[in-house]
Amino acid sequence: MMQLLAEIARTHGTPCYVYDMDQVHARARELRQAFGGRFQISYAVKANPNPSLLRRMRGCADLLDVSSGGELLLALKTGWQSETLSFTGPGKRDCELELAVQRRIGEVIIESVPEAARLNRLAAEAGITQPVLIRVAPSKLPAGFGVKMAGKPCQFGVDEEELDGAIGQIRALSSLSIDGFHFYAGAQCLNSNAIAENYQNFLLIISRACREHSIAPLRCVFGSSMGIPYYDEDRPLDLAALAARTNPAIDQIKLDPIFANTRFTLEIGRFLVGEAGLYLTSIVSMKQSRGAQIAICDGGMNHHLAACGHMGTIIHRNYRMFKVSAVECLAVEKQPYDLVGPLCTSIDTLAREVQLPPLEVGDVIAIQSSGAYGLTASPIHFISHAAPREILIQTIEGARRIEEVSQLAGKAEAAMAQNT
Ligand SMILES: *Cc1c(COP(=O)(O)O)cnc(C)c1O
Repeated sequence: MMQLLAEIARTHGTPCYVYDMDQVHARARELRQAFGGRFQISYAVKANPNPSLLRRMRGCADLLDVSSGGELLLALKTGWQSETLSFTGPGKRDCELELAVQRRIGEVIIESVPEAARLNRLAAEAGITQPVLIRVAPSKLPAGFGVKMAGKPCQFGVDEEELDGAIGQIRALSSLSIDGFHFYAGAQCLNSNAIAENYQNFLLIISRACREHSIAPLRCVFGSSMGIPYYDEDRPLDLAALAARTNPAIDQIKLDPIFANTRFTLEIGRFLVGEAGLYLTSIVSMKQSRGAQIAICDGGMNHHLAACGHMGTIIHRNYRMFKVSAVECLAVEKQPYDLVGPLCTSIDTLAREVQLPPLEVGDVIAIQSSGAYGLTASPIHFISHAAPREILIQTIEGARRIEEVSQLAGKAEAAMAQNT
């Protein structure tokens, strides 16, 4: 892999993102094996919407979850059938809901009663019945989640406390059919017990609501919450332990006749694609400053906001990273470096006092766990540097193929060329 990365940096240039589709496929196989077919897999497009990656997600994921009209159109353009799509998001505009109705997508995820009323009107105008899932915002979440959306005021979903009333109101809307329920209450959890407990809470809420309202749901979606290791101290999620606690709970609920036709779905972003991605950046300049060794890179916060600690984290911690080199450098002594990007702001910091082998101008650093919430979750226009390239690796007919799949790089460069 090291040599492949060195070759990519040499032939395609840095900065760039590298996505390894073999790893994504391996992760999908692990998931299917662990849960033994009890869950379908839905890929949350916002984690990484690269069109070439989306095309290749067929086979990995059964369904796609989109979060905007733009993602909806992208999913269709990359060959996904409209019935495989669901649409979440707290601020869906009428034109986006209309698009969903017109394209006959599988399910619209209802985030509030007023949204349901708007969708109902649009479905009635189109003369169709739109299947919906009601997103529930649970009142509690076990400890251990990096991102929490439960038990406090939030824009996502119908509060659990209001669910009974909401079901009554949504049921009265004649152009919608309630297919089931949707949950996504927390993310980036590495504790299998906390996730399992959370799924069991979802099952309790579903059972109660379905019994109370005589609903036989066709689908229930669990935002998976499965986390990935970003930092040295992180331990990977124990998938086997999560499945060992979750599988019997699903088997149990399936014994109830009202759940006989329910398909359970795990909605997953980072756990599928996060660890399969690297961000490669080269050192442009070295500086000694007041005792610190500073390596200034050709990309930073503008391409990778999350690695700089500005996406939902309170304190900055260094992502896992390594120096890419064609030769083994295991034996050399590591030194502390501050790694910064090229932007004229001190918040453009990729790492503080990270231990790396001796660095010099031209060296390439690979930042790990960068396959999700990377390029499209970053302020790429800030200070007008060129966008990074995107490179996809996949084994096809026994050979590792490298393909450039940039979404934005060409455009920025063309704009720069025009100005010179
Ligand atoms: C973002 C999102 C996901 C994916 O979250 P990950 O932490 O990347 O797995 C799943 N479902 C919904 C509704 C989302 O908004």
